[in-house]
Amino acid sequence: MQINYPRLLADLRQLATFGQVGTGVHRLSFTSEDREARHWLLQRMTEAGLDAQIDGIGNVYGQTKGVNKAVLIGSHTDSVPKGGWLDGAMGVLYGLELARARLEAGDLTDLGIDVISFADEEGTYRALAGSLSFCGHLSEADFAATTNQLGKTLHAVLLEAGYAGRPRVTLDPSRHVAYLEGHIEQGPRLEVEGKKIGVVTGIVGIRRLQVTCTGQADHAGTTPMHLRKDAGSALIKYCHDLIRRFEQIRGANSVWNFGQVMFEPGAGNVVPSAARVLIEFRDATEATIDRMQAEIQAAVTTADGQGGVNVQATELIRVSPAEMDANLAALIETAARARGASTLRMPSGAGHDAMVLSRHVSTAMLFIPSIGGRSHDIAEDTDEADICLGIEVLADTVRALNQKA
Ligand SMILES: [Zn+2]
Repeated sequence: MQINYPRLLADLRQLATFGQVGTGVHRLSFTSEDREARHWLLQRMTEAGLDAQIDGIGNVYGQTKGVNKAVLIGSHTDSVPKGGWLDGAMGVLYGLELARARLEAGDLTDLGIDVISFADEEGTYRALAGSLSFCGHLSEADFAATTNQLGKTLHAVLLEAGYAGRPRVTLDPSRHVAYLEGHIEQGPRLEVEGKKIGVVTGIVGIRRLQVTCTGQADHAGTTPMHLRKDAGSALIKYCHDLIRRFEQIRGANSVWNFGQVMFEPGAGNVVPSAARVLIEFRDATEATIDRMQAEIQAAVTTADGQGGVNVQATELIRVSPAEMDANLAALIETAARARGASTLRMPSGAGHDAMVLSRHVSTAMLFIPSIGGRSHDIAEDTDEADICLGIEVLADTVRALNQKA
């Protein structure tokens, strides 16, 4: 299997012309740019000799012909608003190039390479929709109930795109021996630590809670301080206490974010009657996430009733951490080291299609460095040499799987 670097890089550049914005892409799911990119990918897969189709949710899937067993390799080709050119796209085109190289090598007795671009990973309608569908977690009823920010349903946009009613491709446990996803890191750790290949150990779990303080609106000039039921000040004190608690119990990779704060009625001369904050936190270990949530509740118990303000917390989002297959991760690590590439075992702080796949099939991910750690922005970029090293490590991982098969 001989990787053709110029062809891989040319394909990446070509894919980046669909929805191009400066050095990045604006390719939201099911827009004309996204659909044109999917059609282009379908053609590239067919030219490569794969049995390719776009399915009923927009997944582009190319199967190796004439084999019973295959490694599935992919990611996504949709983007966030004004996103980067490699986020997702690279993992899909790694799969395409590897499938092409396998067919060119002419050894057709080994494992096939099936390639997939999952629809709507970034969640214009539903985050990870394509991989959820592929693993049997999305029904037609879900299509009607899922909408974008403008209230348009997934069902309506699939009709518009011409994908509705097509059969949906699914994971085939008797065929797919593993799922591999190559991705840019989207953070600064590899660069900061001077490492080339990130071996992903797991994908972090996410919880999001809303904490609400309820007090009483009063004139901010005439009401004495000790008579106020000031929901705003209560919320600020609460957040301060919570940060202190988080810092005491955090895991090495725990992160948290106070992403949105709202005061009501929201005027300089009115004591806030209500105040809300959205708190999101992530860790690769469920026990640590549970501990952080327990601190949120303990801080609520401490604050509730102080200064006449009621405080309560409501859970909004809960996503469990996903573990990558340790044996597959070890193959990636061995392959990288054999090429003299430095490695870093690390959790992924961002969600990926691999977190859905990992619950059904042996799954592993490798990261390559993001320049300056930049991502979800048109400034996102990676050295071409690192892109090429990443696919070689993935190719060696596939070779190792063939030796085991
Ligand atoms: Zn991505």
